[in-house]
Amino acid sequence: MADKDIPVVVIGLGRFGSSLALELARQGTEVLAIDHRPKVVQAMAGQLTHIATADATDIEALRQLGVPDFHRAVVGIGSDIEASILTTSLLVELEIADIWAKAVSRQHGRILERIGATHVVLPEHDMGERVAHMVGGRMLDYIAVDENFALAKTRPIREIVGTPLGETGLRRKHGVTVVSVKSEGEEFTYATPDTVLQYGDLIIIAGPIAKVERFPELL
Ligand code: ADP
Repeated sequence: MADKDIPVVVIGLGRFGSSLALELARQGTEVLAIDHRPKVVQAMAGQLTHIATADATDIEALRQLGVPDFHRAVVGIGSDIEASILTTSLLVELEIADIWAKAVSRQHGRILERIGATHVVLPEHDMGERVAHMVGGRMLDYIAVDENFALAKTRPIREIVGTPLGETGLRRKHGVTVVSVKSEGEEFTYATPDTVLQYGDLIIIAGPIAKVERFPELL
């Protein structure tokens, strides 16, 4: 079974949960969306096939909605930390194998992990870090994909313009690799050792965080 064929229960339809539920549905994943605010549920009813008003801290309500049959759940409740923790612990009790939970702080995230969430995401924290790289550096986009590895969208530095990438020694000298390139008016494509960059190009670089952060300073 492809990952997108695994149904997902999404609890808490705030900004995070609602975007997530709609994107899953758009990708063809079956979604059961739950929120305790009837207004929120009404507003989204036309966009999602399975949606219900219920208090997710009530295990009976979760049982009645068939939540125990799901293997994957997302808890999008954030600001009500108590409800987030309680809901996550009920999903653990219902033996949902794959539980994703949103945290509003590192401490909140640590608690969610302790009680059994399999994946904890810190969207605001992560977005803050990401935007800092765009505001403070010369990156047009940035994402840390692991503790010490990142991808960034930026411009080519002078020393790699006009020479085939394979001959620039970029990885050896600066520790990063150009993985994709977009010339003006064209789409992004894979970079190869023969790719010759121009000043107006956009590039995606990959490498250890410190090296990726340093790269635009070489411009
Ligand atoms: P965001 O920042 O993504 O908007 P919020 O934490 O503000 O996230 O929103 C969380 C959503 O979770 C809200 O729509 C709220 O009604 C819902 N919610 C909070 N507590 C419960 C609960 N006990 N059961 C179901 N839904 C809940």
